[in-house]
Amino acid sequence: MNDCLFCKIIAGEIPSTKVYEDDSVLAFRDINPQAPVHILVIPKTHIASIADITPENSGVIAHISEVIAHIAREQGLNEGFRVCTNTGAHGCQSVKHLHFHLLGGRQLSERLG
Ligand code: 5GP
Ligand code: ZN
Repeated sequence: MNDCLFCKIIAGEIPSTKVYEDDSVLAFRDINPQAPVHILVIPKTHIASIADITPENSGVIAHISEVIAHIAREQGLNEGFRVCTNTGAHGCQSVKHLHFHLLGGRQLSERLG
């Protein structure tokens, strides 16, 4: 049984506001946005975090980078934006399915940690 929240969103078992989808990647709005644009970009295959990227599955990361650039253009983030992926306990990762936060639409703080 797969209890992963984001796998359930991919399967359509939990609703989400999708902004992009293709065969291997889904992007949807964060339920608790921390900026005017706050989108989560995830691989459709279950990968727990970026710490689980290997030569066998790293291709999806290159593709996600292209998708992020595409979404940023589409969302009008021409003044800039931030991409981050929280990892593990020290990184405050709460959902254990790899996701990239795409944040923008206002001047973001200089602080990262
Ligand atoms: P993390 O803390 O793991 O880096 O980020 C998890 C993100 O998922 C949080 O920003 C949180 O608001 C978001 N989130 C948690 N549950 C849901 C949900 O059911 N739907 C959506 N769209 N976002 C969620
Ligand atoms: Zn998952």
